[in-house]
Amino acid sequence: MKEIPVSITPKPITSINVKQGGCDEKSLLSGLLTLEQARTKMLESITPITETVNVATMESYGYVLAEDIHSPVDVPNYKNSAMDGYAIKASDIPKTGSKPFKLVGTSWAGKPFDGKVNSNECIRIMTGAKLSDDTDTVIMQEHIEKEADNITISTGHKAEQNVRYAGEDIKKGALVLSRGKLIKAAEMGLIASLGFAKVKVVRKLKISFFSTGDELRGVGETLEDGQIFDSNRYTIFGMLQKLNVQINDMGVIPDDREKIETAFLTAADQSDVIITSGGVSVGDADYVKETLEKLGQINFWKLAMKPGKPLAFGKVKEAIFLGLPGNPVSVMATYYQLGLPAIQHLSGNQNYTQVIAKALTTEPFYKRPGRLDFQRAIFSYDNNGELVVKGVGMQASHILSGMSLANCFAIIPAESGTVNAGETIEIQPFDGLS
Ligand code: AMP
Ligand code: MG
Repeated sequence: MKEIPVSITPKPITSINVKQGGCDEKSLLSGLLTLEQARTKMLESITPITETVNVATMESYGYVLAEDIHSPVDVPNYKNSAMDGYAIKASDIPKTGSKPFKLVGTSWAGKPFDGKVNSNECIRIMTGAKLSDDTDTVIMQEHIEKEADNITISTGHKAEQNVRYAGEDIKKGALVLSRGKLIKAAEMGLIASLGFAKVKVVRKLKISFFSTGDELRGVGETLEDGQIFDSNRYTIFGMLQKLNVQINDMGVIPDDREKIETAFLTAADQSDVIITSGGVSVGDADYVKETLEKLGQINFWKLAMKPGKPLAFGKVKEAIFLGLPGNPVSVMATYYQLGLPAIQHLSGNQNYTQVIAKALTTEPFYKRPGRLDFQRAIFSYDNNGELVVKGVGMQASHILSGMSLANCFAIIPAESGTVNAGETIEIQPFDGLS
């Protein structure tokens, strides 16, 4: 096997910094749009939401910050001990041998010692407790000897060791978090550490979704000949669970001109984003396209990606419309590659990234040149610590079990044919697709 370093590089998904698979002339000539072109067009046409709300810091997970946050304080806001130990004056550290110190008090976290510390005296101090002004060095408790109130400290300690200084983490007035930042666990803690009980964020997006098609039946119903269970709505609902959005499940809409039109208009009035699956292929004999052409400004794209060739994108009234293909794997692939960046952009998230890593193939990935391929695959580390990847078997776009077996997409560039075992390819771990 070749020695290939594994790099895990977050790739920002923005309208300028999106690169995958290349934009080849051939795709353009055959009327197909590359993923990159589609994503750029999408992001350029979406204006991020600017309406804001104030939420309690404890409720802020998953929201996007709507304001810059500057620190009103120094963090930490006082000089404190990094260890459980004994605080002394640096000038008292023995140059050779050891010497006795007199214990004159204790500084607890939250209950500082307010007395005076003279030369050759020390105070007991806990981690995070305030250092009195006349001490500047902490000796770890494991490094002293103690007999009643007599402490013996030996040579070998550095002046000002084990001390955390005021403002060492964040200086008063410093920019701590920028507008457009998605709030996760670390940000929640950081905001709280500055003392903010509330934070100004972009309001939650409202996303409606439904399936259309006469062949679709709901779970619990009995299937008749030629009918299938509607699974895409469950997949879409599952993928949306990862976002901090208000989800509106509108069920299955039968292939009926009026019902479809009503569904779109209701969804547009209630939501920022409408997601549907199916009914957007060229030549589909249903009313979805007809209705959309009548109601909105919709592009029907043929994408040079696999799975996921047909895709509709545009607006119904003020709502962004995303018409995903019908095949179950195509639904997930197009949602991750296009839907998610679009939703993140609309929500004002300015730092959305998708993780791409490089891995060695342990078996061939079969492909014909032409479209950018997102094959379902499993990555792991081999015995040499190399990141390796193999496929999950059948790659057809209706095989949803493959998505469940897989932990990543294997990304095979548009112009590439079959990739042999031992070559390096890019992979996109599903866990990075939140
Ligand atoms: P379409 O793009 O509508 O022609 O659909 C392509 C394929 O996806 C067909 O086999 C459909 O039956 C299937 N499909 C469409 N919608 C769904 C759905 N909601 N759940 C499961 N399969 C679907
Ligand atoms: Mg259909």
